[in-house]
Formats: sequence, structure tokens, C-alpha cells
Amino acid sequence: DNQPTSNFIRQIIANDLKDNKNNGKVITRFPPEPNGYLHIGHAKSICLNFGIAAENNGRCNLRFDDTNPEKESDEYVESIKRDVHWLGFEWSELHHASDYFEQLYDYAVQLIEQGLAYVDSLSAEQIRAYRGTLTEPGKESPDRSRPIAENLDLFKRMRAGEFADGQYVLRAKIDMASPNINMRDPALYRIRRVHHQRTGDDWCIYPMYDYTHCISDALEGITHSLCTLEFEDHRPLYDWVLDQVKTPTHPQQIEFARLQLEYTIVSKRKLNQLVTEKHVNGWDDPRMPTIAGLRRAGFTPKSIRDFCERIGLTKQNSWIEMGVLEYCIREDLNENALRAMAVLQPLRVVIDNYPEGQTEQLEVSNHPQKPELGKRIVPFSKVILIERDDFAENPPPKFKRLVEGGEVRLRGSYVIRCNEIIKDAGGNITELRCSYDPDTLGKNPEGRKVKGVIHWVSEQHSQPAELRLYNRLFSVPNPDNEENFLDVINPDSLEVLTNCRVEASLAHAQAENRYQFERTGYFCLDAIDSVNGKLVFNRTVTLRDSWEK
Ligand code: ATP
Ligand code: MG
Ligand code: MG
Repeated sequence: DNQPTSNFIRQIIANDLKDNKNNGKVITRFPPEPNGYLHIGHAKSICLNFGIAAENNGRCNLRFDDTNPEKESDEYVESIKRDVHWLGFEWSELHHASDYFEQLYDYAVQLIEQGLAYVDSLSAEQIRAYRGTLTEPGKESPDRSRPIAENLDLFKRMRAGEFADGQYVLRAKIDMASPNINMRDPALYRIRRVHHQRTGDDWCIYPMYDYTHCISDALEGITHSLCTLEFEDHRPLYDWVLDQVKTPTHPQQIEFARLQLEYTIVSKRKLNQLVTEKHVNGWDDPRMPTIAGLRRAGFTPKSIRDFCERIGLTKQNSWIEMGVLEYCIREDLNENALRAMAVLQPLRVVIDNYPEGQTEQLEVSNHPQKPELGKRIVPFSKVILIERDDFAENPPPKFKRLVEGGEVRLRGSYVIRCNEIIKDAGGNITELRCSYDPDTLGKNPEGRKVKGVIHWVSEQHSQPAELRLYNRLFSVPNPDNEENFLDVINPDSLEVLTNCRVEASLAHAQAENRYQFERTGYFCLDAIDSVNGKLVFNRTVTLRDSWEK
């Protein structure tokens, strides 16, 4: 990979290293909540955190922010580990915020003892009403002045399960008049009787995200806590908590802009909705911007890492064109994918002057610019299949492919001439009768030019296959701006072609093998549905798009 370009975070870290801050250490973390599959936005954060650590001989932890048990599951935990690995990264330490529940509880007790937290009996609704607005200060809860001893007793009993869900919360005592609403006595703990995928029923109180996150960072000795811009307003709270409790270190929170990608959605909540309401076929549907979906569609880890580097890092939210991601995968596949032939809409071609029963094993190179990728055998015989629209009965001007009485070259094979069109009773073309020029294998015909080259397969040797052509999942660039993003799902996001034929060499394709189907697009074998000899290929991306122009 190329030398990384500088950005404001790399700059901050370079300066910290120069000043020997944190004893010259760089320790980052990637902290997903296991409430869904990772998406391309997470990839940006993964590449950033793991990348920064690797560039500076540092470390990067994977930490599950598992403080919301009702939405979290082990399936998500496992998928996240798999996806981080697949992207090419290895964490130094694996942690769960739930591992710190006991310590978090002790720190909360400390806060109460210092008079910096109190148990509040206001309802969630009342707390919201008391909180005030941007222009109006909040109102103090009557429980704010509860004596320390009473707070300690109540908090203990909250943990012991003596109260109903929602009956009490533990709040930080900061400033109800703060211009920053996050500082108006934010909740630190709530009572919630939910089974946790790791701690089971050990706890009926769970710590809030803002309280948990900063302490978890500090306990792990994180030096730079990189997060997205919406946490900028939470930074004073991050710092407040760490200033009050006595953690060994005080990490520095730095915010960067989220990735927003056109024609898709990067919000786990909305992606979850697409899955549960069956607008797509699961989290790994190739139309999904999830890592699992991109993998199944045929994206390479390298293309995604390249994309994350290319889009750069700023403090300004902006939309990235889908074309940038497509450019990255095309660049990788153009260089590395093996070439093969697949006919999407077959038209039968009988070569009258070719001997019945004969097969020629033609050698065709796997990559025109890379001889080191070798050659494969492509069988040629009397009956072949070509693409229906590579023949025109009434050709438009400049049509260079096959016409009646005209010639075309078969890729890697001979020049053929079309002599006759065969139609059924309804007037549909069912077959072409052609002849081949035996003198044209690997050389130009004598005395005439043949411009067109088309792909083909031998009927008898080819394999039936299903090809799935994916298009953008949404029909507008910014589905998030719609009142309901479900209204702008692209009804044509998937086209399934079931009568395709692929060349013989693909019979033994392996899951996630990637190909350029000549003239058609980049495809990979579907890892899930391609079973028992039934070949299914997913289109990763078309051969060309407008972004490059
Ligand atoms: P979502 O809204 O999709 O649930 P999230 O931020 O709540 O996203 P987390 O699991 O908490 O999801 O995210 C883990 C890390 O990934 C966080 O540090 C978060 O900032 C980062 N992240 C999430 N989405 C993006 C994005 N679109 N661009 C960059 N980083 C992101
Ligand atoms: Mg989050
Ligand atoms: Mg979220």
C-alpha cells in the first residue's frame, strides 16, 4: 500500500510523539456496540484506529461497548471479530465494556462519596422536561440535594434489585445551567432487568454509554480516543468524568467526520430495519453497505482499505460518491481478477463447417497484462453460445458485432461468419447458422479486417449459472434526507439472470473467487447460495462508470 497522506489526526499524533506525550506511546481502540453488523462507515474508523497504531508501533484494542443488552447479541460480536480480521487487522487486546462493570460501579460509588452523583427518583419524562433547552437552563431535581449517605444506600439497593426498572437513576451532579445540555446532570446508571449476553443476570443496573466509554478508554491506557463528530459535545463530559474518578490515565478524545456514502445508508438501526423487514436478504446481502455484504459481493479487503485512505479524514461532514468506492474495487480487480467468459442471455450458434463431435482445447490467458497469472483451457466445439445482443438482425449504425453476412472474432478463438438466421413460429431468433475460418486462430484473416470481438462459450462444455446483477439500493443520493428512507429503495436493485452459461473452467470456482467476465463486469462466486454444483455469481461492479471520466 502507498505511503499514507497526512491528516489532522496524524498531525496531532506526530506532535504528541515529538513532545514525548504518553511516554511516546500510541494506543487506540475500535469500540463497536455489538448491536448490528459492521458497515463501511465502521471500516473508516477501523482503518483509522488500527492504521494509526500500526504506523506508530502502537497498539489497537477491539472493545465491545456492550452496555445496551436488549439490542446486543453474540451473533453480532462474532460477526464484528470476523469482519475486522477480514479487513486485515489484528487487535492487541480484546475487551468488553462489561468486563469493567464492577470497576465502573466502584467509580460510581466514589463519585457519590465525593458528592458528585445522586440517586434521582424523577421519571424519564420528568428528567427530559427538567433538562431545559438550548436557550433555557434546566431545572434542578428535588433529589439533587439528597444526602450522600442516602445516595450510597439507594445506589446499593438499586444494584441489589430492590427497585423497579425506571424507579431511580444515578445522575452526575454537574451543572443544570450549563450551556452544554450533556452537562446538565447526565444519567450514569439506570435500572434495567435485561439478560446480558456476557454477564447474564448478574446486573439489573447498567452504566450509560458516556460514563462507560471514557472510563473503559482510561482503564486500557488508550492515548488517543478517536470518535465521530457527534461526540464533540460530549467531550466535556468525557473529561469531567475522568477528572473526578481516579483512573490511571486520561485519554484525549479527538473527533472526525463520519463517512456518509451516497445511495446508501450507514446507520445500524436503519440497516437492521432493512433486514428485519426483509427489504434485503440479510445483513450480508450484497446490496448492503455492511462489510459482510461487500465481502459477499466480491469486494476485496484491500479495496476497502484503499477507499478509507482515499476519502481522507476531516472535521467536516460531507457525502462521498459511491463512484469512489467502485473505483477502488475496479482498480484492484482490473489488476488481479482472472478473466473468464460468461454468456448472460445465450443465443445458439451452430458452426456448419466445423466437424461434428470434435472439441478443441484452446489455451486462453487468464489476464491480458499479466502472463504470470497463467492460462486456462477453453473448449471450442460445433455449437457455441453467444450473447443475444451481440447479434443484430437490423444493426444500428457502427454496430461492430455479428450481423447476417458479417464476421466477428470469438475471443481467444476463430473468426466466424453468420450465414443464416433461424426463427421460431413467433418470429423469435432461436439460432444462427455460421461458418468459421480455420485459418484465423490467433491471427488476422487474409485480405480483410474483422473489428468486433465477442465472448462465447461452448454449449456442450459450459456450465449453467445464475448471475445476480446488483444495483444501488436506493434511488436517491441521500436517502437519509427523506422523510422515510424506505420510500426511496430502488425497486431495481437486484436483477437475477437464471439462464446464463459460464465457461467450463468455472465449474470448480471457489467461494469468493473473483473474475472479470469479459465485456460484462466483475463477478465473484456467491459464498452462500452456490452449492451442490449450482453456480451463482454476484456482480461486484460493472466494468466502467462515469466517475473515472
Ligand atoms: P451506527 O449509528 O451505525 O449504530 P455507531 O457510531 O453507533 O453507528 P458503533 O458501533 O458505536 O456504531 O461504532 C463503533 C465506532 O465506529 C465508533 O467509534 C464510531 O464513531 C465509528 N463509526 C460508526 N459509524 C461511522 C461512520 N459512518 N463513519 C466513521 N466512523 C463511524
Ligand atoms: Mg455508538
Ligand atoms: Mg448506534
